[in-house]
Amino acid sequence: MDAALVLPRIDRDACNGCGDCVDVCHVGALVIQELKAVIARVADCDYCTDCEAACPVLAIAEGP
Ligand code: SF4
Ligand code: SF4
Repeated sequence: MDAALVLPRIDRDACNGCGDCVDVCHVGALVIQELKAVIARVADCDYCTDCEAACPVLAIAEGP
């Protein structure tokens, strides 16, 4: 499976910008932009799901 096709999907409405997902991402793929988490380095994400597990408001889910 091409990992690049499976990425976390971040619900911008639900995200409160806490940064927990950024802290747990072991490849530094996530950043906070305008108080919302975004995947800045898509190619680095291996879809480990750590960010999904860390999000306190369940704003991150498996993407297409
Ligand atoms: S799934 Fe893993 S590698 Fe991808 S952004 Fe989340 S914590 Fe980082
Ligand atoms: S952990 Fe969840 S609420 Fe916090 S910045 Fe990441 S996506 Fe947003």
